[in-house]
Amino acid sequence: MRAVYVDNNATTRVAPEVIEAMLPYLAEQWGNPSSMHTFGGQVMHAVDAAREATAALIGAEPREIIFMSCGTEADNTVIHSALAAAPNKSRIITTAVEHPAVLNPMKELQKKGYDVVFLPVDTEGRLNLHELEDALDANTALVSVMWGNNETGVLFPIERIAELCAMRHIPLHVDAVQAVGKIPIDLARVPITYLALSGHKLHAPKGVGALFVRKGTPFTPLISGGHQERGRRGGTENVASIVGLGRACTLAGEHLDEEQTRVAALRDRLEHEILTTIPRAFRQGDPAMRLPNTTNIGFEAIEGEAILLLLNEYGICASSGSACTSGSLDPSHVLVAMGIPFTRAHGSIRFSLSRYNTDADVDFILEKLPGIIARLRELSPVP
Ligand code: PLP
Repeated sequence: MRAVYVDNNATTRVAPEVIEAMLPYLAEQWGNPSSMHTFGGQVMHAVDAAREATAALIGAEPREIIFMSCGTEADNTVIHSALAAAPNKSRIITTAVEHPAVLNPMKELQKKGYDVVFLPVDTEGRLNLHELEDALDANTALVSVMWGNNETGVLFPIERIAELCAMRHIPLHVDAVQAVGKIPIDLARVPITYLALSGHKLHAPKGVGALFVRKGTPFTPLISGGHQERGRRGGTENVASIVGLGRACTLAGEHLDEEQTRVAALRDRLEHEILTTIPRAFRQGDPAMRLPNTTNIGFEAIEGEAILLLLNEYGICASSGSACTSGSLDPSHVLVAMGIPFTRAHGSIRFSLSRYNTDADVDFILEKLPGIIARLRELSPVP
């Protein structure tokens, strides 16, 4: 059976070029980068090259990159480090639509007595910058805002937010796990303090991520141990995956234009056809300020899980919300925060494409989906 994979915000296929770059570091070059001998030194050289490639994709300097195990670790590290740097401040500003990698640590801090502000979004998933500005005060230790939303693809105006924070010398963390590799990012130009990215969202393997920390920012490791990563993250480096991440970042830079043009056009065609041919289907999220690969569509009065199961029978892999929260039947916190009516939020499907998708994939989804929706509506007619 053919597989049409349109769940790339959950995870991505490891690019063949990435696997090829990694293999020598699993087979022959298995040394420890911290060793003094040449065998280890060669490996350290590969880690340094990966650091340069990762930095280059986002306009950072190599020494501003710390390799980590995943995006979640990067997000948690920032929160830990920023609060350690501001022991007398108790306010943290974030949004109601963050990924659980940020949302859950924030809820824990709230329980511990921190004044955590969860900024609301409007029905299109947009932030109100005046509300953000009003929340910033001298007691604010950190602002943590995602760049691209994993469920809807909505992009927050990070450049404006960075200016607002920089003017007040408040550190800004950007969870850019979904944005890196999909939109151009230039940290030389935008005064962001910390930025998290994750390998498996950009065609590198799972189990590797990176944190950008702007030079001059005080830093307290979350994982303390050996002197790896210049003392900023203990633990022997996951060399092969780091090499893979570096290769994936270079490839992402080369494919950035295609992401904005061909992938965006595929997404737009898929979305347009669904919205015009299937009754009571609604796009969820700002149509303009969006990741180029993502569309989230609410099908009124049916369950998203049922749609997914029937799509799956044809080998079509999509998602009914964030991958990390699927398995629970509660409507997504993102759609709830946008005020999407329950009957629609419940029947939401996220299609997230990648450079490996083709016109034939979109044709196949468009061939199968209308029948699936009609069948489900027949089974449980709702007025
Ligand atoms: N932040 C966002 C916006 C995400 O979409 C994800 C994963 O889905 C994460 C953080 C967590 O990344 P990781 O899976 O690498 O821990």
